[in-house]
Amino acid sequence: MARRRIIAGNWKMNMTPSEAVALCGTLKDLVKNDAVDVVYCVPAIDIVPVVEAVKGSNVHVGAENFYIEDKGAFTGEISAPMLKDAGVEYIIIGHSERRDIFGENDVLINSKVKKAFASGLKPILCCGESLALRKAGTYKEWITRQITWDLDGITADQVKELVIAYEPIWAIGTGETASADQAEEVCGLIRELIAKLYDQATADAVRIQYGGSMNAGNAAELLSKPNIDGGLIGGASLKPDFGKIVNA
Ligand code: PEP
Repeated sequence: MARRRIIAGNWKMNMTPSEAVALCGTLKDLVKNDAVDVVYCVPAIDIVPVVEAVKGSNVHVGAENFYIEDKGAFTGEISAPMLKDAGVEYIIIGHSERRDIFGENDVLINSKVKKAFASGLKPILCCGESLALRKAGTYKEWITRQITWDLDGITADQVKELVIAYEPIWAIGTGETASADQAEEVCGLIRELIAKLYDQATADAVRIQYGGSMNAGNAAELLSKPNIDGGLIGGASLKPDFGKIVNA
């Protein structure tokens, strides 16, 4: 089954609003590709200017975080209705930096996936193992557990709209990329798991990205693998190189 490629940038805590608008200008012609979904996941304060800056282009806008309530006394948080109203389409959920630095667990992550779907946002659900788990050889069990918990109560129709990003923590921001075979092994495992939890049609439809030091030099090989439908890109999404990944 042909799945549409999705290349998403995760800007993390980078880019002031004016820098963000300038970056959109730099990337504008470089990221043109009608065969690919291109997404910029940007800091909350950059959402409004970035939505404006990419208007009329092939770029979709995503957010990096939100909270599960619609409004109220949650100082410092931002809600799904706020994101939707501002023009956000995608939302990163369960990134390892949110799990490890901000203590987000699978119960909260599962609630966020439910809330995103209920609000009309498309989740990019991240999973991935630490170096210790990779070395211990228990990474497959870890990924299986993360995905099973994070998708509890999510329907097959919703999973068909889901993007799952496999991001080995040891490859994020380290310059160390999983080999194309290592990435394909886990992305294939995730697809098999979706077939077991749901059915083959759902597994064939769900889009699975690789993330972890993807760059202009290694993107083509990673993206050539049958179970890798795209990339979630941190560092290289802030540079003209991002255009080369979109067109790899
Ligand atoms: C990420 O944080 O999602 C990521 C993949 O980062 P990097 O590309 O910098 O490794």
